[in-house]
Amino acid sequence: MNKQLLEENKAKLLAEQKKLKQLLGHESTADSEFPGGYKPKFDEAGSEQTENASEIEQFGNDLAVTEDLSGRLHQVSAALARIENGSYGKCMVGGDEIGEDRLRAEPAAETCINHSN
Ligand SMILES: [Zn+2]
Repeated sequence: MNKQLLEENKAKLLAEQKKLKQLLGHESTADSEFPGGYKPKFDEAGSEQTENASEIEQFGNDLAVTEDLSGRLHQVSAALARIENGSYGKCMVGGDEIGEDRLRAEPAAETCINHSN
């Protein structure tokens, strides 16, 4: 892929990662604040989605924001890992190249436009 775009996006992703880590205080305080051990985790938002959704409502907006941020951090870090291992810019569903316009708009894009949600 376009090497200049790759470098630009790497810089953008690193800057965003740094900002997100600062906003999150890097370590989530969810464990100590919520004795149930609930911790926002991007990967778990699947099977127990309904249950999680009601829990999140109870914990209010602050935690919802934290979950958004930590999910985003996960996404940004995954994109940086793909830059390191050379798979960046390829659709994670079909393996096809992600368009440059899409990568410019969303450096952490994981899929091509055809496989986006
Ligand atoms: Zn695709």
